[in-house]
Amino acid sequence: MNYNERVFWWDTVAMPQGDPAPLPEKVDVAVIGSGFSGLSAARTLARRGARIAVLEAESLCWGASSRNGGMVLTGMKVGIRKLVPRYGLEATRRMYAASLASIDCVEKIVKEEQIACDFARCGHLEVACKPAHFAAFRRSAEIIARDFNHQLRVVPRSELRSEIGSTIYHGGLVDQVSAGLNPARYVAGLAHAARRAGAQLFDHARVSTIEHSSRNGSGGFQLTTARGRLWARDVFVGTSGYTGTATPGLHKRIIPIGSFIIATEPLSEELARELSPHNRMIFDSKNYLYYFRLTPDNRMLFGGRAAFFPETGNTIRRSAEILRRGMISVYPQLRDAKVAYAWGGTLDFAFDIMPHAGQMDGMYYAVGYAGHGVAMATYLGSKVAEMMCGDREPNPFTDIKFPGAPLGLYNGKPWFLPFAGAWYKLLDLVR
Ligand SMILES: Cc1cc2nc3c(=O)[nH]c(=O)nc-3n(C[C@H](O)[C@H](O)[C@H](O)COP(=O)(O)OP(=O)(O)OC[C@H]3O[C@@H](n4cnc5c(N)ncnc54)[C@H](O)[C@@H]3O)c2cc1C
Repeated sequence: MNYNERVFWWDTVAMPQGDPAPLPEKVDVAVIGSGFSGLSAARTLARRGARIAVLEAESLCWGASSRNGGMVLTGMKVGIRKLVPRYGLEATRRMYAASLASIDCVEKIVKEEQIACDFARCGHLEVACKPAHFAAFRRSAEIIARDFNHQLRVVPRSELRSEIGSTIYHGGLVDQVSAGLNPARYVAGLAHAARRAGAQLFDHARVSTIEHSSRNGSGGFQLTTARGRLWARDVFVGTSGYTGTATPGLHKRIIPIGSFIIATEPLSEELARELSPHNRMIFDSKNYLYYFRLTPDNRMLFGGRAAFFPETGNTIRRSAEILRRGMISVYPQLRDAKVAYAWGGTLDFAFDIMPHAGQMDGMYYAVGYAGHGVAMATYLGSKVAEMMCGDREPNPFTDIKFPGAPLGLYNGKPWFLPFAGAWYKLLDLVR
């Protein structure tokens, strides 16, 4: 295959540049990470009048936020049939409501800030890889209608052709509320919005250490970065799958997992409509799932957790082969379509596969999106920022326990990923 080893979305927008000025000596809040979490928090805080420095280790918007599938999805990675026994019906209702509110939050920001990112409520389609998965779709749709007052549409196999130009699935589930967007344009727009609100954005400013330090009788933090030191009264951490040793408490609670995407050359309008008649955000029911969609210029963007390890030249090349085979197994019509781009990025999984937000070691954070971060990271970034400003609105993801590894057997280096990968592959075979 002869493709660009580069993020397709990056070729659709000029990314914002970092502030060339030296770091300020002192700010109200240092925001670590310039993705959806950090920039959404920075925008909210700056609009409330706080002095903000966003500190990004790489170029601005470099992380998962500019590389993802752009699927703005309802629900969480863990389905409600597992969440209700774990947290109870009321808490699960609040979480599910937050997932719907998070999409409204993205839509509102896109409108308010006039971000040209192709946001559209095109809906999502989940497709069943086995008859048993389709039976589970039916049960979930019933429960979600009854207990969560949200309607999903069950699509039997005989009618699936109206939703997808593939014959391999056993049925589907449509949620009209979900949306799609161009993530790089969206995160770039968020960066411009945070800057317009008054935040300063510094690239190549990796934070290496954070120490408690008071100044003029006021508690705070001294941060050491690749561009010098600064003092902040508060810290917000939005480092997701790239969380490192600067925040050790989060580092040992977050597992970084690779996710990879290929994009074809633009397809003809006719073929594009055949593959996805309603332009849905599509994903399947496996643990090692495939997720796919059309881009606004009619490329097939096809992603998956083809390798569990984060992105390197090697994992991207291996994943591109696996994903191309996967794409053709779903859509034999794409046998001759040329793969034009292949890339990867890193997801953040907590040990309970849930989003978590709140305060740890005196610092605020929002992490753990498990591949559902476009809407949730935007939402939790702004909710935690409101909490930092003293708002007391309850947040269902601050109240839940944030577990570490069983027996504490994890220091931030995911030695168990090959075993976890093999385990999930086995589950996909037997269940
Ligand atoms: C390939 C892929 C496809 C995905 N598809 C979807 C999808 O379709 N829908 C969906 O909802 N979600 C998807 N996700 C998940 C989603 O992209 C993430 O959950 C979301 O972008 C997380 O945003 P964030 O701001 O928390 O983190 P990120 O965007 O990853 O930003 C974190 C930033 O922190 C910086 N950083 C880390 N450490 C430091 C430090 N010490 N100092 C300074 N900066 C630091 C990093 O350089 C990085 O830029 C996908 C993810 C990937 C990788």
